[in-house]
Amino acid sequence: MKKKRNAKLIYLAVLLLAAAAAVVFFLNKDTIVIDLKGNETIHVEYGSGLPEADIKAYKTGTLLRFQKKEIEVKTESDVKLNEPGTYTIRYTAETDGVREEKTQTVIVEDTTPPVITLKTDPEHYTPFNHPYEEEGFTAEDVRDGDLSASVVSEEKDGVVYYTVTDSSGNTAKAERTIVYDDRTPPVLTLDGGAQVFVYNGDPFEDKYTAVDDCDGDVTGKVTVSGQADTNTNGSYTLTYTVTDAHENTATAERTVVVRARSLESEIKDFSKVIYLTFDDGPGRYTAQLLDILKKYDVKATFFVTAQFPRYLPLITREDAEGHTVAVHTFSHRWKDVYSSPEIYWADFDKMNEQIEKYTGKRSNIFRFPGGSANTVSKKYCKGVVSAVAQQAAQKGYVYYDWNIISGDSGNTEDTNQIYRTVITHIASNTAKGQPSCVLQHDIKDYSVAAVEGIIQWGLQHGYTFLPLSENSPTMHRTIAN
Ligand code: ZN
Repeated sequence: MKKKRNAKLIYLAVLLLAAAAAVVFFLNKDTIVIDLKGNETIHVEYGSGLPEADIKAYKTGTLLRFQKKEIEVKTESDVKLNEPGTYTIRYTAETDGVREEKTQTVIVEDTTPPVITLKTDPEHYTPFNHPYEEEGFTAEDVRDGDLSASVVSEEKDGVVYYTVTDSSGNTAKAERTIVYDDRTPPVLTLDGGAQVFVYNGDPFEDKYTAVDDCDGDVTGKVTVSGQADTNTNGSYTLTYTVTDAHENTATAERTVVVRARSLESEIKDFSKVIYLTFDDGPGRYTAQLLDILKKYDVKATFFVTAQFPRYLPLITREDAEGHTVAVHTFSHRWKDVYSSPEIYWADFDKMNEQIEKYTGKRSNIFRFPGGSANTVSKKYCKGVVSAVAQQAAQKGYVYYDWNIISGDSGNTEDTNQIYRTVITHIASNTAKGQPSCVLQHDIKDYSVAAVEGIIQWGLQHGYTFLPLSENSPTMHRTIAN
């Protein structure tokens, strides 16, 4: 009996279960689940990619959840990764007449600040008390690109602060500590230069300045060793030293040459006299030459011509600045000048009229074209130089030759060679106890360029430069025609 009852119970239970299963089965409906895995809203950094979308959809039952069949998801997106903003991605899945859709919000945003890169030169330093001199920088932004031009920098208490903000409002900052140092000695400037010429008895005012890049004016710190005795002719060396606050030292040296202010009449030893003479001008380089002579207060002699009429007015300056203006020739055409003594004198007078026009007086000093020893005149008139020389003495004119040929008339165009030739011959004249009369041409630039060196050398070696006068040594050579 008991067995029968048990079987009844089991049957009932099975029936109930079957009924429940039927209810579940009939109530269960197909549905689609799109699983965003919590990513309903995502943030995407400008310039990066969308994250891998691990989004799945499956069909399942409302009650029979264990049923799962993965189905395809369709994606519809308006996301622009290169434009910050809020976008929507729409996911759709559909099967067997059941449809589901879900949206995801995508926020594209730029939160990355630009990158400032500072350029640094390991050798660079800023002198004390100076503003920082920028070594350079760049700024790059993911969205805006090169922002170097937008960087703002500010120097404060030895630090430079750099700031730049991109168009999304992200700010980058950088700073550099300025390296201060002083590696530069002061600059010593000697007024009047490294070589000064003073007349015996005149005062020598030693003027100089020293300026340091960090310390400013340090003239007061200059020490001078050596002394110039302006009452004794000679060459004196002065040494200037100055040290800045950071132990950088500058030195300079100058020579002070004390020379005699001599009159020709007072000269006893002519071997230390130099007569600089310039033929064939005035011309293009005469003004320049006059400037050099003026700088050293050296007087010379100009044997003038009218070959370059526009420069004739310079004769006035030659005379006014204490030089001797003397006759060379008006035309400088040997063929004409030497065709007869009469023609020679006609040309001579014509030139002397020009001299009178520009100086108010005539000259009684002259130099033969080619010098008194020239042989070319033989071609045009035999004995013409001899005749003119004789007549000159009667007329009260004195002619001058030279004893040093600079070589500027055909031998060389090299300034240094002219300089060497001239000083070598002066020294050898001195050794022979003779004065020096140098022939140069102020219409040759390379010759004019040698004059300053010749003067400096002469003054340093105790020579006196004088203009020719009627009483000067004539340096006559032997007349050849
Ligand atoms: Zn000449």
